[in-house]
Amino acid sequence: MSQQPQYKRAILKISGESFCVPGGFGVQRERLDRIAAEIAEVAALGVQVGVVCGGGNFLRGVNSADELGIDRATADYMGMLGTVLNALALKDALERLGQPARIHSALAIARVGLPFERHRCIDHLEQGRVAILAAGTGNPHVTTDSCAAIRGIELKADVLLKGTKVDGVYDADPATSPHAKLFTHVTYDQVIDGRLRVMDIAATELCQQYRLPVVVFNLFRQGTLRQVILGEPVGTRMDDAK
Ligand code: UDP
Repeated sequence: MSQQPQYKRAILKISGESFCVPGGFGVQRERLDRIAAEIAEVAALGVQVGVVCGGGNFLRGVNSADELGIDRATADYMGMLGTVLNALALKDALERLGQPARIHSALAIARVGLPFERHRCIDHLEQGRVAILAAGTGNPHVTTDSCAAIRGIELKADVLLKGTKVDGVYDADPATSPHAKLFTHVTYDQVIDGRLRVMDIAATELCQQYRLPVVVFNLFRQGTLRQVILGEPVGTRMDDAK
């Protein structure tokens, strides 16, 4: 198997839940360090890595608006700020490993991160700094999946990597269906028409429109991110190949 990275630039989407125990809240040290180590390992291969952090370990607008009786847009801005908390933790964890990283935030938060600006972000990627893309798109009513698709396209990434807690895309929920079958490959249409759980439909449609391939993989199997980058057959690849 080739030991050369198959991708020059990758956008990695990690859900907020990856930062804590399943169903938990906030950031847990062990999980944070594990994610940082996986990212630092592929950055050391010379791959340019942008990371879109979710924020569901703090708050999701769709749930919190009703719970708190607040406007949905307000709840979404709160959710975006949750992604910034994860971004700050991840930046420090990466730098503790000697991997330089910069936060590029879609919401202007001076002193905490740079305002996201496409060219500046590309410059940082080219200089070998992990670009942590915080605050989603900066707009309410969408999620960080859509952000990952948009950033992947505008930063001209070769691939969008979706790190999850399962091994890839299944024909049923593997948590409840013990015989769920893991796909090694799916097309965008298969995912959209079959409503397979990969990421938001809007994000999938964007990837399809701009032909950005997606690899869904288990972020918590040690070394899997590296295997994906090296083109080894792990996870599920989504593209338009029949
Ligand atoms: N969010 C938003 N706009 C964005 C990205 C995120 O409004 O561009 C808000 C939204 O409320 C979302 C929350 O931030 O629920 C956290 O993001 P997400 O649910 O995507 O996190 P994940 O599920 O990946 O942890």
